[in-house]
Amino acid sequence: MARYSAWSVFKNGLTGNRQWARAWRDPEPQQHYDVVIVGGGLHGLATAYYLAKNHRQSRIAVVEKGWLGGGNAGRNTTIVRSNYMLPGNREFYEHSLKLWENLSHDLNYNVMFSQRSHVTLMHDPGEMDVYARRYNIMRLTGSDSELWDLATLKKEIPHLDYSADARFPLYGAAVQRRGGSARHDAVAWGYARAADRLGVDILQNCEVTGFTRQDSRIVSLQTTRGTLEAGKVGFAVAGNTSRLWSMAGMGRLPIESHKLQAFVSEPLKPLINHVVSFAVGGALCYVSQSDKGGMVFGGDLDWYKSYAQRGNLPQVYDVAEAVTSMFPCLSRVKLLRHWAGVMDMSMDGSHFICKTPLSNLYLNAGWNYGGFKASPASGWYFADLIANDRPHSVIENHDLDRFRRGIIIDERGAGPDPKLHG
Ligand SMILES: Cc1cc2nc3c(=O)[nH]c(=O)nc-3n(C[C@H](O)[C@H](O)[C@H](O)COP(=O)(O)OP(=O)(O)OC[C@H]3O[C@@H](n4cnc5c(N)ncnc54)[C@H](O)[C@@H]3O)c2cc1C
Repeated sequence: MARYSAWSVFKNGLTGNRQWARAWRDPEPQQHYDVVIVGGGLHGLATAYYLAKNHRQSRIAVVEKGWLGGGNAGRNTTIVRSNYMLPGNREFYEHSLKLWENLSHDLNYNVMFSQRSHVTLMHDPGEMDVYARRYNIMRLTGSDSELWDLATLKKEIPHLDYSADARFPLYGAAVQRRGGSARHDAVAWGYARAADRLGVDILQNCEVTGFTRQDSRIVSLQTTRGTLEAGKVGFAVAGNTSRLWSMAGMGRLPIESHKLQAFVSEPLKPLINHVVSFAVGGALCYVSQSDKGGMVFGGDLDWYKSYAQRGNLPQVYDVAEAVTSMFPCLSRVKLLRHWAGVMDMSMDGSHFICKTPLSNLYLNAGWNYGGFKASPASGWYFADLIANDRPHSVIENHDLDRFRRGIIIDERGAGPDPKLHG
C-alpha cells in the first residue's frame, strides 16, 4: 500500500483524485487467527496495530459488529490531556500523550492532533488549591502544567462571563498546554490503515454472537460471518463489555453501561482556541471549536443505565444551560446535532487492562468517558499484555482483583458509584 506524502497528494491531484488505493482491505475471514480482538473502536484497532508493530505478531483479526468508528470512537468530544495524578494512571496517560504527539507521523495519517491547551476553570481558592496539588504532581513527574490567575485567564479566553453577577464567578484556571484535541474518525482510520499494512485482517459487519469454551480457554468465536478459531482473544468493546463478558459465561463485571451525549453547533468564525472545561455546583461542561467551526461540547451522563446510542432531552437542556452560563455569547447559536455513546463506567473511574479467569482471554474496558485520550496507550499496553501474557508494571493494578486487594484508583474521589466518575 502506497505511503501518503505531499508528493502523493500532488500526483493524485493531477489525475482528479481517482487513483487513490483503498485505505485498508476488506478480507474474507480466515478459519484460524493467533489473536482475535473483538471491537473495532480506537482501543481494538490500536491494540492490533501495536501487536503487529511492537511484538511482530501475525495472523491477527479485529472483529467489528458494525463499521469502524461507529461506536464511541466516532462519538466523543475528542479531548486529549494527561492531567491524572494517581500512580499507574499518571504514567499511563503521560505515555498516551507522548504517543499522540507523534501519532500522525507514526501512522502516516494526519489525525489532526492540535495541542491547543486544555483549560480547567476554577471558581474559588479552595478549588485552586486542590488543582495545585494535582498539577504540581504532574510537573514533578515530568509532565507540563500551569495555574493561571484571573488576569491571565481573561487575556487568554476573553469570551467567558467575567461579570460581577455571573452565575459561576471565575477565579483562575489549571492548564495543560500540551493537551488539546484530535479528529476522532481520522484516528480510527489511521490505526486501521496502519494495522492493515502490517497484515491485520479488519472484519467489519462481523458481530460476535457466542463463544465455544474448553475448560478455561476460548477455542472459537461464533460470528455473523462464520466461526473463528483463536489462539488468544482480547475484548475491547467499551460499553458492550458486560454483554460480551456474560456471553463468554463469565458472570458479572464491576462495570455499568451509561450513556453520554455530545453536541455540535452551527459553524462559527474562530472564537475559542482552547479546550475549556469546568465542573461547579452540579454543572459539568467542556467545549472546544472544531476545525469546521462548530462548537463541540458535552456534559454529564444521562444518569441511567442503557445500551442505547441515543440521549434524552433533559440533558440537552442541562448542558446548553451550563455552556451558555460560561459563554453567554453562545446563547443564540443554533445546535446542529446531538448524539450519545455507551460508556463503560467502572466502580472507581479507572480502566481495566488485564488477564481474566480464562487463560487466553484478555480484557480492555472501564474507560468511563475518558477513553479517547487513552487510546494510544491502551492499545500499547493491551498489546504488550496479550503478547507477553503478563501485565506491564504501569498497568499492574488495573486489574479486576484490585478492589479485593483494597487498591482503589479513584481520581475524582467520587466513591463506588460508577455514574459519578468521568
Ligand atoms: C459523547 C462522548 C464524549 C466523549 N468525550 C471524550 C473526550 O472528550 N475525551 C476522551 O478521552 N474520551 C471521551 N469519550 C470516551 C471515549 O470515546 C471512549 O472511552 C472510547 O472511545 C472507548 O473505546 P473505543 O473507541 O474502543 O470504543 P468503541 O468505539 O465503542 O468500540 C467498541 C466497538 O466494539 C464493537 N462491538 C460491541 N459488541 C460487539 C460484538 N458483539 N461483536 C463485535 N463488535 C462488537 C462496537 O460496535 C464498537 O465499535 C467520550 C465518549 C462519548 C460517547
